[in-house]
Amino acid sequence: MAPFSPADRLVADHFPGVRGENAAGIHAALAGVLDHWFEWRRALFPQDAADDADAPREGHQVLNEQLDRLCRALSAETPICTPRYIAHMKSDISTPALLGWIAAMLHNPNNTSRDASRVGSVLEAEAIGMLAAMLGYDPQTAQGHFTSGGTVANMEAVWRARYRMDHWLSLALWLAEQTGRPLDVFADAHMGWSRYRSLREVHQPTEEALRLCSAAAGDPVAIWRRLDRASADGWRGPVLLAPATAHYSWRKAASVFGLGENALWSVALDADGRMDMGAFDSLIARARDEGRPVLLTVGVAGATETGQIDSLHAWRQRLDRLDREDGVHVWSHVDAAYGGFFPIAKGVFDTRTTAALDALGQADSVTIDPHKLGYTPYACGAFLARDAASCAVSSFDAPYLARPELGEAKWASTLEGSRSAAGAAAVWLTGRTLGFDAAGLGEVLAETIRARRQFQARMVDLVPEARFLEPADTNIACFSIAATGERLSSANRRTRALFEVISRAPGFSVSKTEFGPAGAAVIDSHVKRWRGVADAPTMAVVRCVFTNPYWSDADTRSALFEEFAALVKDSLLADA
Ligand SMILES: *Cc1c(COP(=O)(O)O)cnc(C)c1O
Repeated sequence: MAPFSPADRLVADHFPGVRGENAAGIHAALAGVLDHWFEWRRALFPQDAADDADAPREGHQVLNEQLDRLCRALSAETPICTPRYIAHMKSDISTPALLGWIAAMLHNPNNTSRDASRVGSVLEAEAIGMLAAMLGYDPQTAQGHFTSGGTVANMEAVWRARYRMDHWLSLALWLAEQTGRPLDVFADAHMGWSRYRSLREVHQPTEEALRLCSAAAGDPVAIWRRLDRASADGWRGPVLLAPATAHYSWRKAASVFGLGENALWSVALDADGRMDMGAFDSLIARARDEGRPVLLTVGVAGATETGQIDSLHAWRQRLDRLDREDGVHVWSHVDAAYGGFFPIAKGVFDTRTTAALDALGQADSVTIDPHKLGYTPYACGAFLARDAASCAVSSFDAPYLARPELGEAKWASTLEGSRSAAGAAAVWLTGRTLGFDAAGLGEVLAETIRARRQFQARMVDLVPEARFLEPADTNIACFSIAATGERLSSANRRTRALFEVISRAPGFSVSKTEFGPAGAAVIDSHVKRWRGVADAPTMAVVRCVFTNPYWSDADTRSALFEEFAALVKDSLLADA
């Protein structure tokens, strides 16, 4: 037995255990949750008549039989509790998340309104405060809410960015039509609130006049025609800038908001698989040249395929410079659906990654998915904005009211309607127990990164043809199979074949990902690692995601890493 580490202790205390080692404690806690629920119901309105006590009835027997059938059917579900599952960003859920989720779910609050969720809405605000502090926002001023996941949270960002830009463009259109002076689409679409306020102050347009210039509040096609006529260079519509690693929800968002998928401009990757800052600068310059407003720019913290963290500090510097020197205010959103919990993992990151994570809290808005590295059940994502202004402008009813605080109306300004409080309660209880800090969840996550590193080192020792993508910023390892000098096309064939073999074998679940032309720099530097020839436009890698908390155990690591390496070796021999 290897010695117990701090992460082992945390995992033992806060997770069910690979084989349900903590079953007794969870049984007792769950029974307590049910007791509370039943006692609460019994105590409500004692003057009202109660039904007969629970007596065996025919209905119960059918229920018990079918429930048993359901449970047996579910035993064929993908086993994600075991560390052998390294395919995707999911693993066992934590004990506090499970209990918090169930405790709230029994009451079934609907966080769409405070009436339907007296306690749930308070839990939500407190849980959002915990996430805000972790992300580097000021929890006193940050705003946000839970969503069904990262996809919807990303759309929340586009929705708000669109309303902000719509305010600025509406005023610019009104002014241009009043004065006959042409509108400058790029400059006016990014004018910023202080210029907006001073222009309103000077020219005093009425609410109604502005509303009649709004594409969001009115008829967009008619407004676009007017924008086209009023501007010197015509109206060509806004674009979204996101690195090539961005999740496909950004493509969906472009489509849902009526921009068309071509409006999503993909920023090429550098050799390390992160947003290339030179390419970002070029696209900003191109947008300016073409007179296309940048509705929103996305930085990624924890890319879905590779776990890479963009250099958010360098991105921030550029955005601040645009703001300061050119008066160009571009909405910055960090998609930290996966990586939003990493700021609390201390002592495992190099200085670049630390600086990138430190810049997270300067973004206008952030997406984070507790149902990934927060170890809560689905569906639990969250959208956070730096302050009320960035959140409140989305109000559909009165887009032109100057209102720093929407107060109660905040609950009506979510894309989704009915929303469960269960995810909020899961996050709340996790924060109160495991803790969103370096000594709690941060330590568990740091250990997943150490496990990924150890896996990689062991594989390199045992399987010389395993070529890992480097640097890997977090807990995802990607590797190709290639002999020294091998052509990429041949390496791709062998890598894909290995993925098929592992998928058919019972031992492990992994996934596979492919790099395309936007990742040309990654492909180039990777192929150089084995002095190969890049004779294919795409590159396949096997992807191993170390989110499972039980990898903290040293004995698990040594046994399973050897077994995995042996599986890969045997498969390569068979393929030779
Ligand atoms: C998972 C993920 C999403 C989408 O989140 P869902 O919860 O699946 O909707 C968006 N962005 C990134 C970076 C992700 O990893």
